[in-house]
Amino acid sequence: MTDNSTKREEMVQYQIAARGVRSEPVLEAMRTVPREEFLPENLREFAYEDSPLPIAAGQTISQPYIVAFMVEALNLRGGERVLEIGAGSGYAAAILAQIAARVYSIERIGELAKSAAATLVRLGYDNVEIRHADGTRGWPEQAPFDAIVVAAGGPEVPESLKQQMKIGGRLIIPIGSTPEIQELVRVTRVSEDEFEMEDLADVRFVPLLGEEGWAPDTQPARARKRPVAVDRDAALVDAIADGCEPFNGVRSANLDPLLDRIGDARIVLIGEATHGTSEFYRMRNRITTELIKKKGFRFVSIEGDWPDAARIDHYVRHFEYRPSEWIAFARFPTWMWRNVEVREFVDWLRNHNHGLNEKKRVAFHGLDLYSLYSSIRAVLQYLDEVDPSTAAVARERYGCLTPWQTDPATYGRAALTGSYQSCEDDVVHMLTAISQKHREYAAHDGERFLDVMQNARVVANAERYYRVMYYGSRASWNLRDTYMFETLQTLIEHHQPDNKAIIWAHNSHVGDAVATEMSARGEINIGHLCRRNFGDSVYAIGFGTDNGTVAAASDWDGPMEIKSIVPSMRNSYERLFHQTTLPGFLLPLRHASDALRNGLLEARMQRAIGVIYRPETEFASHYFQAVLPQQFDEYIWLDTTHAVTPIKTAELEGMPDTYPFGL
Ligand code: SAH
Repeated sequence: MTDNSTKREEMVQYQIAARGVRSEPVLEAMRTVPREEFLPENLREFAYEDSPLPIAAGQTISQPYIVAFMVEALNLRGGERVLEIGAGSGYAAAILAQIAARVYSIERIGELAKSAAATLVRLGYDNVEIRHADGTRGWPEQAPFDAIVVAAGGPEVPESLKQQMKIGGRLIIPIGSTPEIQELVRVTRVSEDEFEMEDLADVRFVPLLGEEGWAPDTQPARARKRPVAVDRDAALVDAIADGCEPFNGVRSANLDPLLDRIGDARIVLIGEATHGTSEFYRMRNRITTELIKKKGFRFVSIEGDWPDAARIDHYVRHFEYRPSEWIAFARFPTWMWRNVEVREFVDWLRNHNHGLNEKKRVAFHGLDLYSLYSSIRAVLQYLDEVDPSTAAVARERYGCLTPWQTDPATYGRAALTGSYQSCEDDVVHMLTAISQKHREYAAHDGERFLDVMQNARVVANAERYYRVMYYGSRASWNLRDTYMFETLQTLIEHHQPDNKAIIWAHNSHVGDAVATEMSARGEINIGHLCRRNFGDSVYAIGFGTDNGTVAAASDWDGPMEIKSIVPSMRNSYERLFHQTTLPGFLLPLRHASDALRNGLLEARMQRAIGVIYRPETEFASHYFQAVLPQQFDEYIWLDTTHAVTPIKTAELEGMPDTYPFGL
């Protein structure tokens, strides 16, 4: 027994507290309840593993962390009446019973309801009642409840449960548009008929089947696999060590074999596992310069805004431009592109282009669509110069969006709810008007015409983006990635015939979405669209790291912080690579041996850190499931990594005012 209480203590420390659960009553409950008692005999040795486990009837006992996370989200103080839907093994009910006054728990599978009740009695819980029924209808005789927790994922919040909450009561439930992947939401009953809803995390639960859940004949929940056994991993770790090309550091890595594998691919996508890791940026610089020097790649296009990248483009291609142009990448998240690592590449590229014929100079473009207002300014500035009467029309049309300058997302909501006119017609009209003048404008200068067209396209697409945002994250994600892909196609067209392209974007844009849980949410990305349209002439490279530091914010628009990266979790690809004990390596996936490829084809968790990093809720907010060899053609591992160095204003003093990162 002492042995198990030690394991429980470690579980609380490393799996639960380390990920940000702070509530002392919750931690104390997790320390107390013997999880092994709720498991079938043969799985008891895994009781304190960091994973869900199978119980009878194809169901699962939740991962300890997720139980703690959900119970904490209920904000229990002690003394409450709590309803649980999905008793399963009864484990979560026992945790709740440690804190609340009374727990009512419903289970739709009779066999489970019976054994959960027996276990709870055996362990001496006399404040829990288990009922065999469809929990989506709640437990009206015992209502109202202070808190309700649903341990299975439904298509929406069951109305019966909402009606059984006290005013001020909380309901935690996984909700998803497919039975197997959900978002964990908290519903708070603010008044008789007002409910507030918050998203807490992305999660995976078995489906909630019943009257107000999924129809019981929806696909049966797939029994969860046992955690991958340690010795099987050991063999795979050996296969990785054999199949990879190790290096000691970014500078010394031999990239020739990678260049051979890239062969005559025309599109190379280079990812990153964070938006703030120096080593990823520097390795990407190295690969990119090699591709330019040795394989004649013609342009780099980044997950950044068009006007900002255009500023860099002017600089590296030695174009004339007007000094009044804005500073590149001066908006949140500034460190993502305004950093010493990117500057090194920009300086190299300017140098490389120096003396080359204009047609041979390598270009730098932005694929993203967040520059609504700077793109409007760029269009107006251009038209003022070449076509003042169209400029007057554009001012009028774009004026529709001006009131929302500080917060375009509010425009989206206002346009959708009808409290403000939609500007769609105006922005689409301007795009058509400009593209119709193609011949007239392009006669001046083809590059500048591309620039104004792209800015007009950004305005049209961003206007839509801010409206679509309110239909949900999938619609806006897909709009954004489709837009980035269309921009890439425009650039490929523009630069032909020498149009080999390099893309710099996050792994989540670059790796084929079909190979990750994004596809279950109906999300696509630029990597997928490239693969679908250009097949094998695309080469996609992903990156990963185990530990170190990263530049990221805690909240959108928040300040940049240097954060420590939590070492990778069990059952993740990162953990496998870390176990090789190598400081870094290239791992060819498209060209891997069958044994290695097959070993890696088993889906695992993968970490994604964006401009926001929240180590406290890392599992829920930064890990997702992926099948690595289907996602990327090659993977680059750097075990310990460091934050990028943002450019300090002081460093720029005295720079010529042609410098794109200006003050
Ligand atoms: N809290 C549990 C987790 C159980 S998994 C534990 O930690 O052990 C989810 C459970 O929800 C499954 O046992 C499943 O049978 C049950 N379930 C699914 N739909 C249900 C419904 N409509 N009513 C009650 N239980 C349901």
